[in-house]
Amino acid sequence: MNLLVLGPQGSGKGTQAARLSEDHSIPHVSTGEMFRAAIAAGTGLGRRVEPILASGDLVPDDLTVSLIRERLSEPDAGKGFVLDGFPRNLAQAEGLDAMLAEIDRELDAVLFFDLSDEIAVERLRGRAEDEGRDDDTPEAIARRLEIYHEQTEPVVERYRTTGKLVPLHAERSIEAVAVEIAEALELLDEEAVA
Ligand code: AMP
Repeated sequence: MNLLVLGPQGSGKGTQAARLSEDHSIPHVSTGEMFRAAIAAGTGLGRRVEPILASGDLVPDDLTVSLIRERLSEPDAGKGFVLDGFPRNLAQAEGLDAMLAEIDRELDAVLFFDLSDEIAVERLRGRAEDEGRDDDTPEAIARRLEIYHEQTEPVVERYRTTGKLVPLHAERSIEAVAVEIAEALELLDEEAVA
């Protein structure tokens, strides 16, 4: 199963992506996590992206697209994947389409975590206190939300036109959203069989 989760930070998409990864035995591919791991390991990539993450800006598309291309070519992604945090803009979405066409695969569903800015910001402030992520400063949170509206929302609209978008009520509890996702995926399965 090839899944994509889309939505602003604080929408709970990472949490649900981790659950989907476990339930369906497919890797959770999070670009944000990959960049943070590179920073923690002090690699060349890590050194390059560290100031970008700290500001809340986007890492250049060429770096991000090639990171995903490599990751999806690893054996564990053969069975499927749940992509989280990518694509963040239309250029990345086009990069993903090209990549999937090359390996003759398609997205099964694009789960869209819909919620208001107010709730997203409230949740991120909570996360900043709990996890102490370096890029959860008020400035970086505001910048990420601005980029989300400017660059990622057009990606949501793009997938809406393909009929793959599954809008979710992301303001609800983790459990309620998990149930909504399970129901949507079941429906997809039935449609695939019919
Ligand atoms: P996240 O963990 O998804 O909130 O991502 C944290 C940070 O990593 C973002 O604010 C960006 O600086 C960077 N990042 C993550 N995914 C991408 C992406 N697809 N394109 C560019 N930058 C990204």
